[in-house]
Amino acid sequence: MAASRCLLVRLAPEAWRAYSTGEAYGLVSPTKGFMNHPHRKGSAHHRPPAPSIHAARALPPAPGILPPAFAALGLAPKLLRALGDEGYEHPTPVQAQAIPIGLEGRDLLACAQTGTGKTAAFVLPILQRLSGQPGEGRIRSLVLTPTRELASQIAERATAYGRYLHMRQTVIFGGVGQQPQAQALRGRLDLVVATPGRLIDLMQQRFVNLSGVEIFVLDEADRMLDMGFLPDVRRIIAALPVVRQTLLFSATMPPAISGLANGILRNPTRVSITPAITTAEGVDQVLYHVDKAQKRALLEKLLTGNEITRAIVFTRTKRGADRLFVQLERDGFDVAVIHGNKSQGARERALGGFRSGQTRVLIATDIAARGIDVDGISHVVNFDLPDVAESYVHRIGRTGRAGALGAAITFCDPAERSLLADVERFIRHPIPLAPGQVAPSGPAPSSPSSSRGPAGKGRGGPSHYHSPHRGSGRRRPAGAKRSW
Ligand code: AMP
Repeated sequence: MAASRCLLVRLAPEAWRAYSTGEAYGLVSPTKGFMNHPHRKGSAHHRPPAPSIHAARALPPAPGILPPAFAALGLAPKLLRALGDEGYEHPTPVQAQAIPIGLEGRDLLACAQTGTGKTAAFVLPILQRLSGQPGEGRIRSLVLTPTRELASQIAERATAYGRYLHMRQTVIFGGVGQQPQAQALRGRLDLVVATPGRLIDLMQQRFVNLSGVEIFVLDEADRMLDMGFLPDVRRIIAALPVVRQTLLFSATMPPAISGLANGILRNPTRVSITPAITTAEGVDQVLYHVDKAQKRALLEKLLTGNEITRAIVFTRTKRGADRLFVQLERDGFDVAVIHGNKSQGARERALGGFRSGQTRVLIATDIAARGIDVDGISHVVNFDLPDVAESYVHRIGRTGRAGALGAAITFCDPAERSLLADVERFIRHPIPLAPGQVAPSGPAPSSPSSSRGPAGKGRGGPSHYHSPHRGSGRRRPAGAKRSW
């Protein structure tokens, strides 16, 4: 079965402004300003699609001002005040779509990755719904997220957004002593943010009572799958009450996650946001046709120049990532590796070194790289083309953040040509060849996608990289700034 995909939506900057200010919903008149229309229940389904954005934080801050576009979503004054303190002026697309659904108590299936503002999209409705009514449960809402970093980040955001409410919350994750967590679970809690492993441990010791959970959020579901957490997640879900609100967030929808979603969501509203296409257009992209055996030598040659100051190198497999890491380290490069088989500690060390600038090159697989929000990445290198075309835009979105210039270098070996064709079809333009490169002639050999199942199924076809438009793919002039 082919993995179902998130729908991509893309709007021009003016349209994005219209959505983010509320104009597109008829809430703001371009001439008369904010019209203070009440939010209409149920209207979320009928809205035109929201635009893609690159990073939520690119939006302009407005300290101390109550953000009217958030008010239009139906958020309470105390939350609006906190959002004003945060400098959030406009909801991001995932927030604009998900918050009204969350506030109405409906189930949600959202395709959105870290960086889209998804945390506020689920935390704000939780805070508002639970602060408005007393509850009986020991734990009233539960957010399950795969990593300790994400758990602390979510808890930190919930504290910030809930600063004018009196909500009781705690965060549960492994790698630290369990005693303080067990102690916190003795009281009544409005919100628990947890990683699955430690929560299961505490459940087995009877420190956790999930029977009163009213709202359950499953965050980064595809990453849970990749990290092997799905059995734990299922056990936790089995301990929740049947009647509850469930919000599921995932950047992609592989079949296992669609299956899980079908089982745990009741008549969910679907929302899809990805920073994809906008991002792809904002990054300078080049393509090298290179034999598989020559890829490492080419990478090392590129790394030897001084243009690449901080790079993520993507491989298709965990094993490929490890192999490349060993080779590059042996050849004297500052390099680290991150993938789903690495322990939490190893991932944190790798990321820490990369963030601080100690490590110049981070080798990563697709899902492990999700949520890496590091500024100043000068280059993304696609050492292998991704199995799923959409991942290309997620990958290259790691560079050129916050208006900085970024570049994406893609290697394509002969067996990957149909994957390249998939990517080029997806981004709707050919990737320009690197200077001095010539498009190979002759038919492409059968690609990895044709034997690999879902990703390439039915989409192999001949590569269109011979396109007469080759090289005409849009590139910004050197020194140009990205416009948001
Ligand atoms: P997330 O995808 O939830 O991890 O959020 C990514 C970043 O965007 C975080 O640093 C948030 O604080 C920030 N953010 C979330 N929503 C908004 C907003 N509406 N305006 C500005 N920044 C935001």
